[in-house]
Amino acid sequence: MHSNKHYDLLVVGSGIIGLASAYAARKAGLRVAVVERHARCIGASVRNFGFVTVTGQRRGEHWSRAMHTRNVWEQVAPQAGIQVVHQGLYVLAQRPEAITVLEAFLKTEMGEGCRLLSMAEAKKKFPTLQDGLGVLHSPHERRVESRDAIPQLSRWLEQEMGIDFFWNTTVHGIDTPSVHTSRGTFHAERCIVCPGHDLTTLYPEVIAQAGIRMCTLQMLRVQPASPIRLPGSVMSDLSLVRYEGYADLPESAPLREVLEREQAAYLEQGIHLIAVQSADGSLVVGDSHVYGSSEAPFASEHTDALILQEMHRVLDLPGATISERWTGTYASAADVVYKAQAAPGVVVGIVTGGTGASTSFAFAEELVQMALA
Ligand SMILES: Cc1cc2nc3c(=O)[nH]c(=O)nc-3n(C[C@H](O)[C@H](O)[C@H](O)COP(=O)(O)OP(=O)(O)OC[C@H]3O[C@@H](n4cnc5c(N)ncnc54)[C@H](O)[C@@H]3O)c2cc1C
Repeated sequence: MHSNKHYDLLVVGSGIIGLASAYAARKAGLRVAVVERHARCIGASVRNFGFVTVTGQRRGEHWSRAMHTRNVWEQVAPQAGIQVVHQGLYVLAQRPEAITVLEAFLKTEMGEGCRLLSMAEAKKKFPTLQDGLGVLHSPHERRVESRDAIPQLSRWLEQEMGIDFFWNTTVHGIDTPSVHTSRGTFHAERCIVCPGHDLTTLYPEVIAQAGIRMCTLQMLRVQPASPIRLPGSVMSDLSLVRYEGYADLPESAPLREVLEREQAAYLEQGIHLIAVQSADGSLVVGDSHVYGSSEAPFASEHTDALILQEMHRVLDLPGATISERWTGTYASAADVVYKAQAAPGVVVGIVTGGTGASTSFAFAEELVQMALA
């Protein structure tokens, strides 16, 4: 069906990693197609917070990926008509041990541009914050509404960057230059496979080497009872033992001990707080992390209740109600990214650290380089 058009590079998957790969390949001057199984992306890329976060990413290469990706979002968002809903991050520290982690973080190179605010200072900018001992402010973060941003980015790549998109089309097998799909054969010199958490359709034996598990998250949309404006994204003490940029610091050990005593049920479900705001004033709030060999199909009310308790511990939102609940799944492994040459001219790329919105554009450049090597 599609046999008469030739591409330099075909991308499998229209999640953020696929879109970022298509963008990087097009910028390198290649003729590019994106092939997506569904009528639109419905994967992790539209279910996430749209929290483009630098602060807290694993120290070193991954932190640099996030900073670079944030910069690319800054360039691409206005061109693609994507609204950056808010900027920056506020981590409310409610225990002395959390302050110790933040002080240690600020002494590292990752703390550049960040500041520890007193509660008085923080409350001037952010009156909705509950009491605490201090607040880390980072200016680096951006927030986009992923469920809008991903389709907007796809449209822009198609209409302005000249990338061809093929929806409702599953790639069954690749034997470059032939790419076999549910709607005929495509011709492409090279492929980048960005399957998200579909680990069984293409190169399952190669991907199996990555030691990937599925991680399922619960998410909520919360409607404040009266209008509020968050000046940035929000995180809590629990985030400091989850996000590796803080959690890998030796100073996080005492905080973990306290949290294991005081919030064991939260740690068991991998709960910490991220709260971000949408243009209509509602908040996207999460999350939990349940690991297994497949997606966790059932969302637990108990887990949602714990997430909401953590939200109320950090934000003063009396009478807030829930208007939407959903789950999302990503492929998770000990290493934060997985990339492999699966066959001649074929590269597989998966962000396995749950940070694809934050690290996609930089990671995609690595994938394109690998595909062209
Ligand atoms: C609930 C949740 C919240 C998160 N929050 C954040 C956040 O705020 N910030 C952040 O940085 N990260 C966040 N993450 C992680 C981030 O969303 C993921 O790392 C990222 O979206 C993964 O993108 P992807 O393109 O690899 O996968 P996906 O978005 O899942 O896309 C993969 C696509 O490939 C398609 N596909 C697969 N196989 C084939 C095939 N053979 N043929 C055709 N199409 C195929 C699928 O249909 C799918 O559309 C979150 C994840 C979840 C689940």
